[in-house]
Amino acid sequence: MERLVRECFRSEGYVFARKAEEIAKERGLSRIARLASNENPRPPSPLAVELGCQALQRVNRYPDEKVRSLLDTLERHYGDYHFVTGVGMDGVIETVIRTLVDPGDRVAISVPTFSFYRLAAVAQGARVEEVRRNADFSVNAETFVRACRGAKLSFLCTPNNPTGTMTPPGELETILEGIDGVLFLDNAYVEFSGVDYLPLLEKYENLIIGRTMSKVYSLAGLRIGYAFVPGWLAPFYTRAATPFTLNTVSSETARGALLDRTHVEETVARVAVWRERFVRECPLPVTSSGANFVMVDVAPHTGDQAVELLAEQGVIVRSCRSFRGLPDHYVRVSIGEDWENELFLSAVRNL
Ligand SMILES: *Cc1c(COP(=O)(O)O)cnc(C)c1O
Repeated sequence: MERLVRECFRSEGYVFARKAEEIAKERGLSRIARLASNENPRPPSPLAVELGCQALQRVNRYPDEKVRSLLDTLERHYGDYHFVTGVGMDGVIETVIRTLVDPGDRVAISVPTFSFYRLAAVAQGARVEEVRRNADFSVNAETFVRACRGAKLSFLCTPNNPTGTMTPPGELETILEGIDGVLFLDNAYVEFSGVDYLPLLEKYENLIIGRTMSKVYSLAGLRIGYAFVPGWLAPFYTRAATPFTLNTVSSETARGALLDRTHVEETVARVAVWRERFVRECPLPVTSSGANFVMVDVAPHTGDQAVELLAEQGVIVRSCRSFRGLPDHYVRVSIGEDWENELFLSAVRNL
């Protein structure tokens, strides 16, 4: 019966971080530093948990299909923008593609980057064009614009996963003025960067800015994403989406998380301190990052070899082998709890 499965789902699919428990068991280690998934190691805000628990008592009813109370909270938090929501930013990405892309349409992606854009576009039948970044992982706006010619949709991630590289708003203006389709700007890590891309929304109606509650907001397990979209797109997105994007618990928890600014501010401050230390104390080259992770050049080891060697010392990091368009000698290391970061810094010295 497998012959019935579509061709695009027969290759590998999304690569998950190796399960820390699995490696701990293998090595007989009791304490494992989980630095592979860019999560926030802190538990979610108490206010988020409180609103989520209250919402759990009402789940006999279907959720509000318009997610009105979350949209109100987003507007109060950010200002008068158009928002859409999804099951994680991954869900938003998939729905945006469903809204805009027909089989055979072109989609351009700035690489190396997050793999899901490509997987989701291919599943929709798109022809994907990957556009290489410069050797220092910055984006060449002219090259990107040229590759976007005739593409309905393009993807650019800033700060970029896995390199951490930030693209300045000025470069994005060049891109937004040069392309004839829509740019999806992935801002999953923007809270850690200190860069504000929202002013671009006032000027360009071909810009979507994707956001997630999985990283700085400590809600990865709940799958909550949203995006700032141009006004013309919102009603069509709603038609393309599944009838209920978010559930009652996730949307209420998200509201609580947005209302608690202290949780975010403390996390961002901690990350900034550790990012500095990683750059200064790691004996291997570290790419400059605006996110809650850094990319480390582990040559002459391969990424996979370095992952194994660090795992033997109880530290789980992410090999960058599966990132297309990246040479095979990098690992990505999330900033975790203090003891986890210390353990990484001492383990990496033994490489
Ligand atoms: C984590 C991540 C996302 C997806 O986040 P969700 O958990 O689906 O909200 C999107 N883009 C990038 C670059 C990410 O690293």
